Amino acid sequence: KLLLEVKDLTAVIAESKREILKGVNLTVYEGEVHAVMGKNGSGKSTFAKVLVGHPDYEVTGGSMVFKGENLLDMEPEDRSLSGLFMSFQSPVEIPGVSNIDFLNMAYNARRKKLGLPELGPIEFYAYIFPKLDLVNMKTDFLNRNVNEGFSGGERKRNEILQLAVLGADLSILDEIDSGLDVDALCDVAKAVNGLLTPKNSVLMITHYLRLLEFIKPSYIHVMEDGKIVKTGDITIAKILEKEGYKAISTA
Ligand code: ADP
Ligand code: MG
Ligand code: MG
Repeated sequence: KLLLEVKDLTAVIAESKREILKGVNLTVYEGEVHAVMGKNGSGKSTFAKVLVGHPDYEVTGGSMVFKGENLLDMEPEDRSLSGLFMSFQSPVEIPGVSNIDFLNMAYNARRKKLGLPELGPIEFYAYIFPKLDLVNMKTDFLNRNVNEGFSGGERKRNEILQLAVLGADLSILDEIDSGLDVDALCDVAKAVNGLLTPKNSVLMITHYLRLLEFIKPSYIHVMEDGKIVKTGDITIAKILEKEGYKAISTA
């Protein structure tokens, strides 16, 4: 079943009106894993942020439809409620708020919107406890302040935990492998794989073949100057790793 359809999407930076996305086309079906690769500055993060409705960007043309609904008509919060999740490239620290309280609040906000009763601390603990295993986290991790003093790997795993708590039909993961050693990368990849079902999909932005060997993509896309210029299988990532972007550049 069709999940996301992006057609000829163009977008500019709201402040300067500089065009970054120059006609992106992408179709994602349920159960698929899509990887987006591309040189620094090619517009990968912008594309991800435009999908979730980041205010730094303005859509100037094209369309993006998620689960049959026009994303352009939806506020960022409603996009998230409808099942679109994005991991933040640099998660913020929230001093004085414990991780579990933060996740509990985020989850309750969602439940409230859906007309479901909020979960108290004990019920929420019961809900989140089984998910800790998935991200290979110990319970003491829940009592630490959000992202405060987290290592790179812990931050990433915390984002995946957040995803596991909230649930999503399409998860956009922007460089979840950045700054991770092989063990941490393996943990994060396992967690993502653990969340994959035939019903949900992942769009992951990465520079590295290694991540794609852990989380097997259905398709790999290459972005160049605000457009997807090539789509294929894991072979693309292997060529990139060996020969660099010049090997597939259209410029
Ligand atoms: P990628 O994720 O592929 O490395 P980005 O989408 O982050 O690329 O950036 C694409 C281009 O847009 C870059 O030249 C970047 O400097 C510029 N850009 C993106 N967001 C902003 C912004 N909020 N303000 C100014 N320039 C931006
Ligand atoms: Mg970049
Ligand atoms: Mg980026």
